[in-house]
Amino acid sequence: VKEKGRAHYRFYHTHMKSSFPNYIIMESHLRKAIEKGELYVHYQPQVNLSTGAIDSFEALIRWNNRKFGFVSPAQFIPLAEETGLIHQIGEWVLEQVCIQLQKWRGKGYRSVRMAINISPKQFLQEQLVETINFYLSTYMIPPSCIEIEITEGAMQDTQQTLKMLKKLKDLGVFISVDDFGTGYSSLHYLKRFPIDVLKIDQSFVKEIGMNHKDSAITTTIIHLAHSLGLEVIAEGVEREGQVDFLKKANCQKAQGYFFSKPIGPKEIEQQQFVLM
Ligand code: C2E
Ligand code: CA
Ligand code: CA
Ligand code: CA
Repeated sequence: VKEKGRAHYRFYHTHMKSSFPNYIIMESHLRKAIEKGELYVHYQPQVNLSTGAIDSFEALIRWNNRKFGFVSPAQFIPLAEETGLIHQIGEWVLEQVCIQLQKWRGKGYRSVRMAINISPKQFLQEQLVETINFYLSTYMIPPSCIEIEITEGAMQDTQQTLKMLKKLKDLGVFISVDDFGTGYSSLHYLKRFPIDVLKIDQSFVKEIGMNHKDSAITTTIIHLAHSLGLEVIAEGVEREGQVDFLKKANCQKAQGYFFSKPIGPKEIEQQQFVLM
């Protein structure tokens, strides 16, 4: 499935390049985006469904370019991955998150946890753990304040993946599987790899309570997580009915527009979420 996806993307990319010169122009703009201050990070609250408290967020990158306006990360992250810019961008996000956590810690919000998306390309880099460690020490952030989100696609069944995950685990950061259920070999790597959190993909959450297959899959993932002693979080929660369903199914956490869109740090402080 993964190989097919990649091939499909290549085709799409080539196609874009030939018929839309914009794609090449976009690349040159993205290259300068960091120094021009066009990138920033928004944070989406993750709600504890039994207490209603918010003690964690997912960091999501944003790009506002003068020529293109707001470009979705779903568009420019693949471009960054293809061009290698992802390494610079990924490291920039990591530093921004640490800077933000340091500010919040200074204001007394000491146990906020932040989930960061790590591209499969970054995950393959030998020095990823050292880079994370560098920023954690520079900004004096406890590793337990960071959660690394990796998609199933990044986790190949290899010694290399296992070694990398063990190094991250030893560092003390949390490891979560993003878009859980959309890749393959899930059960096998759950047995083999030191994972802490499962994030149920939005595509399953979308119609829970309405579509019996999605309901069954979501409930099963929640049970699976609990049986394995993992945390579980549902993504893309937009309706109250979904919240009710997830509460009944004993899902620990939820994230989605129903609670909040990804927002800036000022807004988060103004909302007076329970940030303790
Ligand atoms: P993702 O990691 O699966 O992130 C979830 C996406 O769902 C985000 O889109 C988020 O804004 C959106 N979302 C949150 N709640 C809801 C909801 O209730 N309904 C719907 N329909 N959508 C919701 P976003 O921010 O556009 O990011 C898209 C993708 O771009 C992310 O998917 C992730 O794969 C990638 N991405 C974003 N930021 C980063 C980053 O800093 N680094 C890397 N490597 N990838 C990133
Ligand atoms: Ca994610
Ligand atoms: Ca996701
Ligand atoms: Ca996704």
